[in-house]
Amino acid sequence: MSSTDQFGELLQAYALGALDGPEREALEAHLAAGCPECAAELAEARWVVSQLAYAAPEAAPSDMLRGRLMQIVRSEAVAPGTSVTSIGSSKPAVPFWMWAAVAALLLVSLYSFWNARQLQDQIRDVNERATAQLHSREKIEEELAAARQEAAQVKREADILADPSSVKIAMATTAADSGPLQANWNPRLGLVLSGSKIPQPAGSRVLQLWIIPKTAGAKPVPVQIERPDENGTFVMVVATPPETLTNAKALAVSEEPAGGSPQPTTTPKWVGGVSLFPLKSP
Ligand SMILES: [Zn+2]
Repeated sequence: MSSTDQFGELLQAYALGALDGPEREALEAHLAAGCPECAAELAEARWVVSQLAYAAPEAAPSDMLRGRLMQIVRSEAVAPGTSVTSIGSSKPAVPFWMWAAVAALLLVSLYSFWNARQLQDQIRDVNERATAQLHSREKIEEELAAARQEAAQVKREADILADPSSVKIAMATTAADSGPLQANWNPRLGLVLSGSKIPQPAGSRVLQLWIIPKTAGAKPVPVQIERPDENGTFVMVVATPPETLTNAKALAVSEEPAGGSPQPTTTPKWVGGVSLFPLKSP
C-alpha cells in the first residue's frame, strides 16, 4: 500500500505545523517507523512551505490545508499571545515561518483577485475596441459598396448615352413648374431617364417610371422609383427594364407615395411615345 495515498494531505499540514491529535500521532509513529516515501514527501512539503512566500497563484495549497490555516488564524485571534487552552494542550506552537506563509497566501489571494479584475477590465476594453472597429469597418464597407454602385450607374449612364443604338424618348410635361424628362433606351445596356429643373415631390413621395406596353388594354408596368436632388436634377438608371424596347408604346412618370405603387395612383406628369426611329421635329 502506498503511504503517500494515506498521508499525502496530512504531510502538508504537518509541514505547516497544523496537524494535531490522533492524526499527528499516527503520522509521527509512521515516520518513526522509517517510511522512506513519507520522509521524502515531508521534506518536499517543508520545502514548499519555505517557498510559499514567493509562490505563484498555482502553488496555492489544497482546500483542506487552507481550512486548517484558517482554523489556526481564528484560534489565534480568540486568544492572541496566550496558550491555546480551549483547543487542547497538544496544540503545537505556531512557528514564525508559518505566519509568513499565511501572509504570503493572503498576498497571493489579493494579487490573484486584483489581477483577475485587471484582466477583466482589459478584456472588456479590447472587446469594446473590437466592436467599435467592426462597426466602423462595416460602415466603410457599406459606403464603399454604395460608391461602387454609384460608379457603376454613372458608367452605365455614360455608356447608354454614348451608344448609337440607344433610342431617345422625349417626355413632355403639362406641369408649368417642371422641365421635361428625356429617356435614352438601349436594347443591351438599359435605360437612362434624366432631366433638370424637376421639383422634389412633397414629403417622401417619389417619381415612378412606367412602361405602357403596345398590347391593347395592357396595364402600365412599374419600372423604378427615384427622387430629384435638391437642385432639381433627376437621374434614373434602369439596368434591366421589365419590358423590351420593341414591346413598349410609351413611357410615363407619375408622382407616387414613398416606395412606389403597383399601378399609377396619380395622372402621369410626364409622357413620351416610344419611336424606334430617330426623333424628328414635329
Ligand atoms: Zn509512508
